[in-house]
Amino acid sequence: MSNTIVEVKEAQFISNNIKRFIIEKPANYTFVPGQAAEIAINKEGWDTHFRPFTFTSLNAWENLEFLIKIYPEHKGITAELGKTNAGASLVLSEPFGAIEYKGPGVFIAGGSGVTPFISIFRELKKQNRIATNKLIYSNYTAQDVIVGAELHDLLKENYINHYTKEGVIGFREKRLNKDALIDYIKDFSQRFYVCGSHSFVHDISGMLLELGATAESLVVEQ
Ligand SMILES: Cc1cc2nc3c(=O)[nH]c(=O)nc-3n(C[C@H](O)[C@H](O)[C@H](O)COP(=O)(O)OP(=O)(O)OC[C@H]3O[C@@H](n4cnc5c(N)ncnc54)[C@H](O)[C@@H]3O)c2cc1C
Repeated sequence: MSNTIVEVKEAQFISNNIKRFIIEKPANYTFVPGQAAEIAINKEGWDTHFRPFTFTSLNAWENLEFLIKIYPEHKGITAELGKTNAGASLVLSEPFGAIEYKGPGVFIAGGSGVTPFISIFRELKKQNRIATNKLIYSNYTAQDVIVGAELHDLLKENYINHYTKEGVIGFREKRLNKDALIDYIKDFSQRFYVCGSHSFVHDISGMLLELGATAESLVVEQ
């Protein structure tokens, strides 16, 4: 796989822990909405440490966009990206990934797992094909939601926020469990797209199968 050095054109926090990067797009660089690339920071000591991040831009855009959750406590690549600003350079791999739009369905995202769906929904909106697609977006709290206002604009009543730790007095932690899925979905003979941490994808996929979804109807990052 060939890598390219690219310039960071813009970088700013859009919430307390999500940073938006606008990055130079190499000539003839294309991807399928939903795909990701491996990224490293092009400076000594960091340029061989790659992590995967998903394009949230569209091919038609002049630049690439990434929305990246920064984990300062990991002292890893995202902590360093938290200190990386316009003018810096990154190492960008070729695109890869299994998530792509295969037709209308229910999208279920946990945290920063929503990023492939952002690119897919933006592309569908552009093509006037967003139709009956539905998003169930699970986060600890409302503060963790990425581009919530835009997702609401794109999907209207088909956008559902689920919070597992919204901190109000007397609140009981509400897992995205089978009862919640039945409440939100009802018809399990649809196509499902699932993205989030490994355990999120594992747990949600397992529950969907138990509720009647077929293995062929699940689109997940392997
Ligand atoms: C295909 C794919 C696409 C992705 N797309 C996106 C995206 O678009 N946006 C996005 O935000 N994320 C995305 N991710 C997740 C992203 O890749 C990770 O958040 C990122 O790799 C974290 O890198 P890191 O170096 O900061 O931390 P890590 O690699 O998680 O860890 C770095 C160090 O911190 C330690 N560590 C790990 N966990 C903890 C902890 N809880 N507390 C303290 N230390 C810890 C580790 O031992 C390690 O030494 C994607 C992941 C995949 C697989």
